Amino acid sequence: MTIRVGIIGTGLIGEDHGRKLANVINGSTVSAVTDVNRARAEEVAATLGGVRVFDSGLDLIASDEVDAVLVTSIGPTHAEYVLACIAAGKPVMCEKPLAPTVPECEQILAAEAAFGKRLVIVGYMRRYDPGYRQVKASLESGAIGDALILHNVHRNATVGEAYTSFMTMTDSMIHEVDTSRWLLGEEITAVQVIPPKRTPKAFPHLQDPQFAVFTTESGILSTVEFFANCQYGYDVRCELVGSLGTSSLANPVVSSTIAAGTDATTIPPDWRARFGAAYTAELQAWITGLQAGECVGPSAWEGYAATKVVEVGVEAVKTGERMIIEYIEKPAIYR
Ligand code: NAP
Repeated sequence: MTIRVGIIGTGLIGEDHGRKLANVINGSTVSAVTDVNRARAEEVAATLGGVRVFDSGLDLIASDEVDAVLVTSIGPTHAEYVLACIAAGKPVMCEKPLAPTVPECEQILAAEAAFGKRLVIVGYMRRYDPGYRQVKASLESGAIGDALILHNVHRNATVGEAYTSFMTMTDSMIHEVDTSRWLLGEEITAVQVIPPKRTPKAFPHLQDPQFAVFTTESGILSTVEFFANCQYGYDVRCELVGSLGTSSLANPVVSSTIAAGTDATTIPPDWRARFGAAYTAELQAWITGLQAGECVGPSAWEGYAATKVVEVGVEAVKTGERMIIEYIEKPAIYR
């Protein structure tokens, strides 16, 4: 059975995912798109072979031509569309964040629990990156012993003027929140954010770099250096320190130049180049799961937990203090 996907939001990532769902992923096609920017939706629809353009996300969700929905509109619109998908009984993959506020996430958890079956997955694609999966496997196999400390580095070449100090948490470190929870298999129970000396390369309103320390349930520390204007490229690193050894990510090397006594490798320019394969694997797992009648991918609970940590993390950015994080009880369908 071919899964006909409708896409809400045809911006940067909606277009990328759409191209893959139409041309790369086995078992899917794109049947419909919509965007508040109608001209943009029509442009993307044309590249996908002239698929139908709907006037609104709610019309697209209701359509008989759509089996599953991909929400790639801006964060503040996610909850309305995800809730409409649950009400319609349609599977939905929502790009991160599930929703930008905790009450919206809790509403989604309650709606899905009342529906009685998982329909929602959240686009935390790093879980599908081969490097991250190997780090997790090294922990699960016992090779590095007990997890003690996780060091994370997340650097962007530059960001635009609209990027704020709070977005370091809500838009960027949210990925390290998810990978920390997933790699370590524990919830994050405290967060502290310490501002290092600022780079002269950032706009004056932005605290850059930013440094966070997450503590998990059993006391594992997960540190994150986020540097928005590192200048040299997109660089994501992670080292898991265990009681018997360590396991680290390596940047995928696509080429190297050897000259003048130096061996130089290239750095990915952005997240699309670095995590392209992970996005493909994530979409394929979702579609293959739907064909088998299953909901495969990070659940709405994972989306809620990440939003909860970054919401407290934003307070930690403001106060500089170590803030405690408390969660609602996990509904049975996510256990
Ligand atoms: P983008 O390029 O700004 O695209 C978002 C699109 O949604 C825009 O065309 C926007 O139109 C449209 N839109 C706004 N309100 C809408 C509504 N109510 N209904 C339908 N469409 C609406 O942003 P993006 O970079 O693609 O990001 C989209 C989402 O993906 C965000 O949640 C972002 O955090 C997430 N994302 C995730 C990753 C990842 O690594 N997993 C990477 C990138 C992005 P206007 O421009 O006219 O407002």
